[in-house]
Amino acid sequence: MYTFNHMSKEEALSILKLPEEKLPALLDSVYQIRKKYKGNRVGIQLLTNARSGDCTQNCAYCAQSCNSKADIEKYRMVSTKKLLQDGYVVQEQHLARHCIGLSGIRFQDDEINEFAARVRELKTKTQTQICCSIGFLTPEQAKILREAGVDRINHNLNTSRSNYPNICTTHTYQERIDNIKMLQGMGFEICCGGIVGLGETTEDIVDMLFEIRDINPQAVPINFLIPMKGTALESANIQHLTPEYCLKILCLARLLTPKSDIRCAAGREVYLKGWEKEMFCAVDSIFASGYLTAGGQSIDDTIRLITNAGFTYYIETES
Ligand code: SF4
Repeated sequence: MYTFNHMSKEEALSILKLPEEKLPALLDSVYQIRKKYKGNRVGIQLLTNARSGDCTQNCAYCAQSCNSKADIEKYRMVSTKKLLQDGYVVQEQHLARHCIGLSGIRFQDDEINEFAARVRELKTKTQTQICCSIGFLTPEQAKILREAGVDRINHNLNTSRSNYPNICTTHTYQERIDNIKMLQGMGFEICCGGIVGLGETTEDIVDMLFEIRDINPQAVPINFLIPMKGTALESANIQHLTPEYCLKILCLARLLTPKSDIRCAAGREVYLKGWEKEMFCAVDSIFASGYLTAGGQSIDDTIRLITNAGFTYYIETES
């Protein structure tokens, strides 16, 4: 039985380097922990891209970055109609959460006020849980969003501290951590995860997951890079992203943050197709209907996937 208490970085590394024949035993152990804290439930999240493209930052993986030539739709603010439409889908299908992402790292106060007005309307017309991915906020801006009804903030670390300058030079890792700590101090729930496939070593993954463990977020989304044409990482080496390797990373995330929602985010449909039963041994949360700039699986197909794997589609209103 693997344990997570006081796990050292060497022990964590040994999990990522576990020979494939030992994977079933790891999954069995991790499933016991998942079952203890999450039962057999899987929550589904829906993601709305509320502001798309034209970011000032140069995150190498991102189709919305200032260096990206990816052919994506760009807009300053999603229409209220689209945001509400997605909100009603979350409500009517009893999805766990409505995630809303905005490209950009810093926002003017009037932009925050405009967005807060939309959140207020969404909260008045639906009873959904809202999580926003919205760059670095000032405490005053965060307060406005909190009062508007934002329940949770997503801010990913993406990779290790030492690998960070290789994927982004327009802001620092520490700025990300400082932003998270500030929001946590204000009482926001935190969603904080990363991306695998950014040229990192296994040690980098361990370092990132230890940083995330220290933050102790409510949710840990793990993305597996889907190299997008036009981004700096369009030719990234993803050969090592085998199902077994991806599963070991998800298991380690569960072991280090056992009570958090462990979410298999972007890349699920690519790297873990056909491995869902094993994936759900560690994972209790997934997206339906796609990602910020990439498509995904429909809600109906996602529900079918969960039940076919022997797990239960988590209906938020019954909790
Ligand atoms: S990840 Fe966020 S901050 Fe980085 S380039 Fe993309 S939208 Fe901008």
